Amino acid sequence: MSKGSYVIDAHPDASSNALPTAVEAMLRLDHPIKTKATRWAAEALATDDLIERDRRSEFWVEGWRRCADFGVQGATVDPAHGGRGMDTAEALLLFEGLGYGSPDQGLVFGVACQTWAVIAALEAGGSPEQLQALLPGMCAGDIIGAFAMTELESGSDTYALSTTATEIDGGYRLDGRKAYVTLAPVADVVIMFATVDPALGRWGITAFVVETDRPGVDIDLGREKMGLRTTPFGDVLLDGVEVPETAILGKVGSGGAIFNAAMESERAFLFALQLGQLERQLDDAVAYARQRRQFGRPIGDFQAVAHRIADMKARHEKARLLLYKTALQRSLRQPASLSAALTKLAATEGAIASGLDAVMIMGARGYLTEGGVERELRSAVGGAIYSGTSDIQRNIIARLLGVGA
Ligand SMILES: Cc1cc2nc3c(=O)[nH]c(=O)nc-3n(C[C@H](O)[C@H](O)[C@H](O)COP(=O)(O)OP(=O)(O)OC[C@H]3O[C@@H](n4cnc5c(N)ncnc54)[C@H](O)[C@@H]3O)c2cc1C
Repeated sequence: MSKGSYVIDAHPDASSNALPTAVEAMLRLDHPIKTKATRWAAEALATDDLIERDRRSEFWVEGWRRCADFGVQGATVDPAHGGRGMDTAEALLLFEGLGYGSPDQGLVFGVACQTWAVIAALEAGGSPEQLQALLPGMCAGDIIGAFAMTELESGSDTYALSTTATEIDGGYRLDGRKAYVTLAPVADVVIMFATVDPALGRWGITAFVVETDRPGVDIDLGREKMGLRTTPFGDVLLDGVEVPETAILGKVGSGGAIFNAAMESERAFLFALQLGQLERQLDDAVAYARQRRQFGRPIGDFQAVAHRIADMKARHEKARLLLYKTALQRSLRQPASLSAALTKLAATEGAIASGLDAVMIMGARGYLTEGGVERELRSAVGGAIYSGTSDIQRNIIARLLGVGA
């Protein structure tokens, strides 16, 4: 792919209002942005060594650059900062297309994390100087950003974090350890959450922009994982890391609000990838069930197989409608926390269930590493853990309905 010759952009027919795009996306499966992204990803992100890279947990730098050249990293970013200026629904269609077309699910997951968590956090709290320093480089693929909230002892209980930010002359000193941080081993910069005073609870939590080459930052690369292996994660160790006051994202004590803004964005939109994947798995399953014959007839004639396919369709539609409802609510500036949690639950649990159905329908062929079906099932499991586990999503949903603790 030559740089700039084949890129994605806001749909020329789309108005500045996200509403028509989101409604259109709900009603049809072939929006031009999605179709273009699907075709591009199937071609540009396919490599012969994917199985080997997955085995080695190897990040594909060239793939990251190709995504940037196509416009993925800059999809949601204002053109003034080097982005494509897509509205949310258009960006969702782009990621849906990547989820359908990209054989390398780990790579596009990494790009989605940067878009829906890192860039969302920067846009929620970043100063003009911070945005100018980071966004153009991220859009161009030159700067990779990670988002670090989780710690070994504070996972679901995020606000119990113990990383500290101690005020020093002209800035802060950071000490602690962040765990399971997606892209950390390859990141140039990390959005880091620390407390200025544990006694203040969530009101002491503050976000910092920390470059990974600062003295005292160390990345522990030694964490192998079940799926999404081509985007690595790792722990970030902070040992007396000194940062200037200008490294604060937002204000002292606004870290909780920034974290929530990023998580709502991630819960609502990162799972557009799963949507594309659910649709492709469905298309592949239908094609396979029509062509594979046993007992003298296509296996799709057997109700057991046909019902698996019907369930796959139901899961895909449920996740799709919820995702676009959330996009509509956000574009109308309506509260979207309930829809975001429902979307995350439907998309991630759907991806696990349909990933397993896809393997079962294909029998031993689905179980083979070479087909990639088992890789998608392994990767799908992570979705039910990151951005808040399925149990935590159910807690959020119950709480918003007025029940639960
Ligand atoms: C692929 C992947 C990528 C990740 N990327 C990042 C990243 O980029 N940045 C980052 O900060 N973190 C990241 N994480 C970490 C992730 O956010 C945490 O793993 C997650 O929040 C859960 O925390 P935990 O693993 O400590 O599990 P725990 O919180 O210890 O939970 C263990 C079990 O207890 C259940 N549980 C806990 N509390 C409750 C409750 N109140 N009600 C019901 N059930 C409960 C959970 O649902 C789970 O089943 C990533 C994780 C994965 C798997």
